[in-house]
Amino acid sequence: MTISAKTKYCLITNDVETTSLWNHRLSDKTGEAVMKDGMPVLLDAYRKFHVKATFYFTGYIASKFPDVVRMILPEGHEVGCHGLTHDPKQAFDVLSLEEQIDHLQRAKDILQNICGQEVISFRAPALRVNRFTARALEKTGFKTDSSVAPQRMDMFLSFGSKKKLKWLTAPRSPYFTSPDDLAKKGYGNIFEIPVSSFLLPYTGTMMRISPSLISVARSFLALESQLFNRPVLFLIHPNELIEEEIEISAVERRAGNYISYLLADKLRYHLKLKNLGRKAIPLLYSQLDYLGSKGYKFTTANEFYRLHTGRM
Ligand SMILES: [Zn+2]
Repeated sequence: MTISAKTKYCLITNDVETTSLWNHRLSDKTGEAVMKDGMPVLLDAYRKFHVKATFYFTGYIASKFPDVVRMILPEGHEVGCHGLTHDPKQAFDVLSLEEQIDHLQRAKDILQNICGQEVISFRAPALRVNRFTARALEKTGFKTDSSVAPQRMDMFLSFGSKKKLKWLTAPRSPYFTSPDDLAKKGYGNIFEIPVSSFLLPYTGTMMRISPSLISVARSFLALESQLFNRPVLFLIHPNELIEEEIEISAVERRAGNYISYLLADKLRYHLKLKNLGRKAIPLLYSQLDYLGSKGYKFTTANEFYRLHTGRM
């Protein structure tokens, strides 16, 4: 079966991790709230809008709270991998090839042991990858990646920004990547399904920061998807939908110099709090409502891979 030219596809993707957006750190308490509070909200929304989605879990949250993985299985959603840990010090763009293979294999084993299915889809924590990542993914049996956001221009607000300059020239339609660069077409076996973006990424974060800008961006993406037969891919996190107590007084400094501390740490932290928690739920519903009304068929990364490439 090949992909139908008439069918418009939409991938709703979810990164499931223990990051506390309220407190700007990793926390097991957040992991528990994600499972008990954030995930049920998402699953409920997807049921209402007939969405089959992909959930990328960190190995950490899966091993700590296996039920967070199990709960998506009866609904036919896909289990994907979001690395072993979301610790920025162990991001994929700072790991060697051997370390990436080790992280991917461990995370994959944890997830497969819980869900009993093969896990073939990957998204890097914070979308941070380097020249080894495509090879590490191939070595560990992954088939799809979704860590590239073509022509996304808000990189200064995120980590590993300089490496993300590659996004400026990344292809906009799904493609097989180079074995040395996920942001380039090539003869590798990893199929990249990019995060829809144009200047702004089509994500829960942007949706919360500016609901009006995101509706402009998504109209553009919907038009483009129709003209060029491209899927629309939306990225959200269940931790964006939970309420937590703020327990910190100052934002932890991760960036090296003061300017990037102001931009990447402080400004980013304050933007990320906008419409966070319960306020994000109606915004999510409006995305699903819009995409459904435009006639998109919701599909998962592995399903899209099979349809698009004819491979299994
Ligand atoms: Zn993440």
